[in-house]
Amino acid sequence: MTTAIMPTYARLPVQFSHGEGVWLWDESGKRYLDALSGIAVCSLGHAHPAVSGAICEQAGKLVHTSNLYGIQRQEELARRLTALTGMQNVFFANSGAEANEAAIKLARFYGHSRGIDRPAVVVMESSFHGRTLATLSATGNAKIQAGFEPLVEGFVRVPYNDLDAIRQVAEQHANVVAVLVEPVQGEGGVNVPTAGYLNGIREICDRHQWLMMLDEIQTGIGRTGRFVACQHEAVVPDVLTLAKALGNGVPIGACLASGKAAGLYGPGNHGSTFGGNPLACAAALAVVKEVADGGLVERAAELGERMLNGFRDRLTGRSGVVDLRGKGLMIGIQLGRPCTELVKQALSQGLLINVTAGSTIRLLPPLILSDAEADQIVEGVSDLVLNFLEQAAETAA
Ligand SMILES: *Cc1c(COP(=O)(O)O)cnc(C)c1O
Repeated sequence: MTTAIMPTYARLPVQFSHGEGVWLWDESGKRYLDALSGIAVCSLGHAHPAVSGAICEQAGKLVHTSNLYGIQRQEELARRLTALTGMQNVFFANSGAEANEAAIKLARFYGHSRGIDRPAVVVMESSFHGRTLATLSATGNAKIQAGFEPLVEGFVRVPYNDLDAIRQVAEQHANVVAVLVEPVQGEGGVNVPTAGYLNGIREICDRHQWLMMLDEIQTGIGRTGRFVACQHEAVVPDVLTLAKALGNGVPIGACLASGKAAGLYGPGNHGSTFGGNPLACAAALAVVKEVADGGLVERAAELGERMLNGFRDRLTGRSGVVDLRGKGLMIGIQLGRPCTELVKQALSQGLLINVTAGSTIRLLPPLILSDAEADQIVEGVSDLVLNFLEQAAETAA
């Protein structure tokens, strides 16, 4: 493959020429079942006619003007997103990291508005929030930070799924202004917190007048079986970030705010050249319409249950399988040993999967999956896992 690209990615030896629905084809004509969706991006699969149609139509009219002017598509998308999430207003960016930058800046701005000169944000171990300086500093992964010091200051880290640890921070640090947390940790290993965790954070934030900020970049847009994952607990945060699936592959990020967070930014406080341009917003409007009006949120819940049950039937009790967990179509299979090699094995069998946090197989299939395709993923992945564990046992014996 080309060497004119900076080698920041360990790429697999394949490239795809086209796709349709949950299927991708490589240049030799081999077909792959996509159980990853470009890491939770292509939730409507590939070449979805509603999205392709919206992109083509908008491209024929107007791609970009500037945020110096009104942008009708942006207004429409903001109205749709706020109605679906219970939030009040939106800042549009071009990626997840940028959406989180907007959120982190908003938290600092909020702190300064309250006379706190050095505001801090509570963040979690094993979290992932992006690769810009502020978002990698917020990220709970030493590998992502190594070599990029000095990190951005103003973050206090606590273990995930531990409300007492957050309460302790409240006692020890007077400069905290917000909590930033993923409702389910994606990159960190598909970590599903105890039910009530988000409610608990809401309570703590209310008590201390902190902003509750949810990074729903991976969990949002129907992925977990609710339009946004905080709806599982009927929690409305002060700040909520979206990206990944929002454009089904067209780059767009969003930072939504409600209540006291919605009235903070004024002209000149934040900005983006491309953010919320007509093309990206037209694509996102088509995505949101398909997901929300097309019954795909409920479908994600139903399919997730079907797949998790399938995995439980095949893998529960097998030695070497540590945990099976998930929420909607965000599924993790944790093994007792590193299993990154499974990605290549799956690829050769025409199945796209991911391994994160070293030993957790992560599945993020498109929401448009048929029952038969869901079953095919369960069978394919289960066979790979059983074979892998058998070989590991033989090597050990
Ligand atoms: C992917 C992801 C990001 C970063 O998004 P980019 O578009 O890659 O900048 C941030 N937070 C979470 C939870 C993510 O999954």
